[in-house]
Amino acid sequence: MSEELERRKCVIIGSGPAGYTAAIYAARADMEPLVYTGMQPGGQLTITTEVDNYPGYPDGVNGPQMMEDLRKQAERFGTEVRYELVTEVDFTGPVHKVIINDKTVLADSVIIATGASAKWLGLESEQRLNGFGVSACAVCDGFFYKGQEVVIVGAGDTAAEEASYLAKLCSKVTMLVRRDEMRASKAMQHRVMNTPNIEILFNHETVEILGDKGVEGVKAKNNATGEEITIPCTGFFVAIGHKPNTDIFKGWLDMDETGYLKVTPGSSKTKIPGVFASGDAADKVYRQAVTAAGTGCMAALDAERYLADIGIH
Ligand code: NDP
Repeated sequence: MSEELERRKCVIIGSGPAGYTAAIYAARADMEPLVYTGMQPGGQLTITTEVDNYPGYPDGVNGPQMMEDLRKQAERFGTEVRYELVTEVDFTGPVHKVIINDKTVLADSVIIATGASAKWLGLESEQRLNGFGVSACAVCDGFFYKGQEVVIVGAGDTAAEEASYLAKLCSKVTMLVRRDEMRASKAMQHRVMNTPNIEILFNHETVEILGDKGVEGVKAKNNATGEEITIPCTGFFVAIGHKPNTDIFKGWLDMDETGYLKVTPGSSKTKIPGVFASGDAADKVYRQAVTAAGTGCMAALDAERYLADIGIH
């Protein structure tokens, strides 16, 4: 006789602001949610230092602290948190399967909150100084470099948008563009090119980020001439794109060409009944903690209604 599988009303995959907000709402609605945290419990905010733009924290809050608070709030209402990684899903039947290596949990509803990960250059110095002057989010961390000189790498719309944002705060922004042209839309290119305190260095690649305890400068190489230069700066922003963590849903759910999950506009519904998507995994536009929390709430409310409709209480 085969072993009976654990069955839950609501399984939440991911533990950033979307996952934990979904858990708070689901727990309070007696859905007894089970959260699988994934590889980075707490998500992207655990690699930021200070969060100053989340409403309700007049003095700011440190990212890891905020995520711990969210976890505790979810647990207070009965959420179960497991520090494991979901490796596979099976959405064939009316009851969904969430697979963790060789273990399967049945779920009447699934909330996806797997987030996105910033792409990094892959330099040792970038990793070492991450959170100490190196950041992948200008909107989160730009404020700390008010009046200072910063460097941003990337040439897409995100890099252009973040460079414009930084230019309002910082005395100088140097943009490192690896080719002789930018990928960003023409409108965004015009904007950065017409901002007096943004200098664009085409054909430049980052060799190393300099500094011991904080960023002091960047060594960059002109890939057309081979010449190396050192740019003094206190902040280094990486804006070379994000990757949604949605690989395990390929073949099951609709996604755009870059892997962001598609939902019915104005809701968190995916094309599979009982499967809801929230947070950065389904949002390439806003990508903020507060918007992720908002869509996490939507997913829990959508899941609650779905369970009621199919008679699960
Ligand atoms: P993109 O993938 O569009 O751009 C990434 C950029 O990073 C490219 O210019 C790329 O260079 C560069 N890059 C990648 N790897 C490296 C590396 N190792 N070293 C140096 N540079 C590197 O990502 P975005 O995040 O900018 O945008 C994602 C999507 O979101 C796009 O479709 C964009 O249009 C959209 N978006 C729209 C906005 C808006 O409309 N307001 C705002 C922000 C994003 P290369 O060009 O040489 O490949």
